[in-house]
Amino acid sequence: MRRKLVVGNWKMNGSLAANAVLLEALQAGLDADSGVDSAVCPPAPFLAQCQAMLAGSPLAWGAQDVSANAAGAFTGEMAAAMLADFGCKYVIVGHSERRACHGESSELVAKKALAALAAGLTPIVCVGETLAERDAGQTFAVVGEQLGAVLGLVPAADAARIVVAYEPVWAIGTGKTATPAMAQEVHAQLRAQLTDKNAGGVQILYGGSMKPDNAGELMAQADIDGGLIGGAALKAADFLAIIAAAR
Ligand code: PEP
Repeated sequence: MRRKLVVGNWKMNGSLAANAVLLEALQAGLDADSGVDSAVCPPAPFLAQCQAMLAGSPLAWGAQDVSANAAGAFTGEMAAAMLADFGCKYVIVGHSERRACHGESSELVAKKALAALAAGLTPIVCVGETLAERDAGQTFAVVGEQLGAVLGLVPAADAARIVVAYEPVWAIGTGKTATPAMAQEVHAQLRAQLTDKNAGGVQILYGGSMKPDNAGELMAQADIDGGLIGGAALKAADFLAIIAAAR
């Protein structure tokens, strides 16, 4: 049985004061023995705050992006080892907003995943199709290529150390969610692709307008092992309710 994992992607939101309130409420509401793994991914300037407030708590933390490079003349980038210094367990790579707004290719995302693994971090590899791609019947080809790029670069022994997040682009921040059956269909394909690389036990999260009222049904699907949560991760009650639904 795979453990469930619920990760909050705060995107570019938060402040020291607001985060302190949110993190305190999350810690107060989290049950250490829930059997569910959980984490928050704040903007990078707040990683030190997470390290100070969350050390020793069941709530892990991670970053929203990482450089493919280890060090040097890469202004504005953050190396995986730096994220590890701040206690990160996870790092999101290939979020659709980075693919769309920053032109990140699957090849670059794969290099970022490799850099994360080399520093001992768990990359959360995001894949997902646009509405136009879904309508053109290209969903499986698109997500297959995105995951394939990572599985093609990462050494076979490390493939089982990644997490995958299926996030249909048309469902992110739109209030539109894939039905549980639609999501499960894609997750099953991703599972088969991972199993081919002896990584069938990898957690595959669903992301895209997951909320307390749809989380339980989505996470009850055979191949949905948790959620990557955007908007609802900014409200303690909602994020805790989604973690509770993962049990
Ligand atoms: C996301 O950005 O990863 C996400 C899933 O956002 P939302 O939950 O707001 O759709």
